Amino acid sequence: MHILLMGPPGAGKGTQAERLVDEYKIPHISTGDMFRAAVKQGTELGKEAKRYMDAGGLVPDVVTIGIVREGLSKPECRKGFILDGFPRTTEQAEALDDILKDAGIRLTAVVNIEVPDSDLVDRVTGRRICKSCGATYHVTFNPPKVEGVCDKCGGSLYQRDDDKEATVKNRLKAYHSQTEPLIGYYKKQGVYMEIDGTQAIDKVYADVKTGLEERAGR
Ligand code: ADP
Ligand code: AMP
Repeated sequence: MHILLMGPPGAGKGTQAERLVDEYKIPHISTGDMFRAAVKQGTELGKEAKRYMDAGGLVPDVVTIGIVREGLSKPECRKGFILDGFPRTTEQAEALDDILKDAGIRLTAVVNIEVPDSDLVDRVTGRRICKSCGATYHVTFNPPKVEGVCDKCGGSLYQRDDDKEATVKNRLKAYHSQTEPLIGYYKKQGVYMEIDGTQAIDKVYADVKTGLEERAGR
């Protein structure tokens, strides 16, 4: 399975990716996670990325394409991957086409998780993430059993710097102007699939899985 997860910030890409990783045992490649790791390590890449992330804008294409090219070159990606949060611009989508062509890989599906803007601010501002294992929770919609503590590993939960209301609004603007046009791009390629992301997490997952297995079997 070579899966690309699309959707606005807070749509549930990371949440669904966690389940897909468990099910298909394929790597999860999230550009947002890669940038956050670089910020944490204090690398030059992290310092550059943080400027854009804090403002709710996109990190420049040349930087982002470089880290994805490196990530996808790993041998474990040959049997499958879940690409989450990339591409976000037409230039990134064209670069991905070239990377996949060179590697002889065809996308199984582009899964777009659809959620209206009116739901996304609550989703993003209520998001909490485990410092140790990266698992995602929501204070209301998907709370851990013990407040502030990860169910899976006991790590403590934190709120991302960019999950504040003002930043979320900029991220939504960037999504609509730069990323949403990719829907047409992937429809043309015949790999596009749409999922109603307003449903409960389990139901969204069931729809994603059914859609993917239908496509993989073709
Ligand atoms: P993305 O990776 O697309 O930015 P996340 O998977 O991190 O989104 O989800 C954003 C927030 O919304 C998280 O706090 C998550 O727990 C919550 N969430 C995810 N899917 C759903 C859903 N179907 N219903 C309600 N809340 C959800
Ligand atoms: P995410 O974790 O996907 O919500 O991404 C967090 C932030 O990382 C975004 O708001 C961007 O600043 C940056 N980012 C992640 N993926 C990309 C990408 N493909 N292109 C540009 N910036 C990105």
